[in-house]
Amino acid sequence: MIPSVLPTYNRAPLAFARGEGSWLMAEDGRRYLDLGSGIAVNSLGHAHPDLVKTLTEQAQKLWHVSNVYTVPEQERLAKLLTDQTFADTVFFTNSGTETAELAIKMARKFYYENGQPERVEIVAFEGAFHGRSTGAIAAAGSEKMVKGFGPLMPGFVHLKWPSSEADHDAIRATITDKTCAVIIEPIQGEGGIRVTPDQCLKGLRDLCDETGTLLIFDEVQCGMGRTGRLFAHEWAGVTPDIMMVAKGIGGGFPLGALLATENAAKGMTAGTHGSTYGGNPLGCAVGAKVVELISDPAFLAEVARKGALMRQGLESLVARHPQVFESVRGEGLMLGLKCKPAPADVVKAGYDQGILTIAAADDVLRLLPALNIPDADIAEALTRLDETATSLEKAA
Ligand SMILES: *Cc1c(COP(=O)(O)O)cnc(C)c1O
Repeated sequence: MIPSVLPTYNRAPLAFARGEGSWLMAEDGRRYLDLGSGIAVNSLGHAHPDLVKTLTEQAQKLWHVSNVYTVPEQERLAKLLTDQTFADTVFFTNSGTETAELAIKMARKFYYENGQPERVEIVAFEGAFHGRSTGAIAAAGSEKMVKGFGPLMPGFVHLKWPSSEADHDAIRATITDKTCAVIIEPIQGEGGIRVTPDQCLKGLRDLCDETGTLLIFDEVQCGMGRTGRLFAHEWAGVTPDIMMVAKGIGGGFPLGALLATENAAKGMTAGTHGSTYGGNPLGCAVGAKVVELISDPAFLAEVARKGALMRQGLESLVARHPQVFESVRGEGLMLGLKCKPAPADVVKAGYDQGILTIAAADDVLRLLPALNIPDADIAEALTRLDETATSLEKAA
């Protein structure tokens, strides 16, 4: 008999009753150190007092109004985002997937309005993840995601993910007078914490500038302070025309945002897009508090410091457990451990040591702790990962 919840997830038999900071409390009373953060969502940990206060206060005032009215909480959050980024304008969504949909629509509409309606193709990269809608799976294009779902949205071209400047020639050859956009994650999350080299992000910006193509950065996972800058692309010193943001921006409240320059957004006039819940006052009130806390330069410097501290510890884990861990990758607190055993087995062994991690592609174990994880919890996480590796060595 089919479970009452559609079984599209291979779920662990763990259920949590409460969370506090970097810790989750299971229903049986066991405490787990959370290095997954709901997949980079609980950016300020669980039950952050300022977020609880903001949400509670907003809940007592106003939950929902239609987007046919002005929503002051949206305007406030949009201003915070445009003040601190390349963007001039923001559309709010409930998820990352919805930002992918709008990014695709916006890029195509831009050229339609520009008198070049034939420019509909979008160049995307192998190993990418942009969400689960029919458009977003077509964008990522992997067999695993698209198989069985019928005809895909046409217009996507897939290339090898650029790991060095040697890959730029193939990209240059693929951008034609049919291309409207290039979409890339500055750091692939699901793809295995693969950091797109700065020179590749710069190279893409140059290619897009030469050909008048729009550059879309998907920062749903790597953005919102995770790398020690507000957005990951800031390290490369280039900006996109369109950027997808979600996950960490709501701190646990479902919220996404599509950021764009005035130029890229010029086709999206009244009636061309919409959302019932997108930009809901509850989500935007919480989002504004999250952005306010995370964009503080002192906070971001701490993320970078904690990331370096954690990385150092992970490097020594690799040295101590070469049978389990092969190497460390990532930036800031978006870290990955390349594993010898299947990452899913390492995740499972971690449960027995009271630590939560997330598997990713490319044999990588993902570590995405709360950005404000205390140093003591980083030390505890390293101890528990050490014990996890020891338990796997004993079992082997
Ligand atoms: C999670 C993710 C998405 C999709 O976000 P949802 O909120 O699950 O729809 C898109 N892009 C990237 C890079 C992601 O990590």
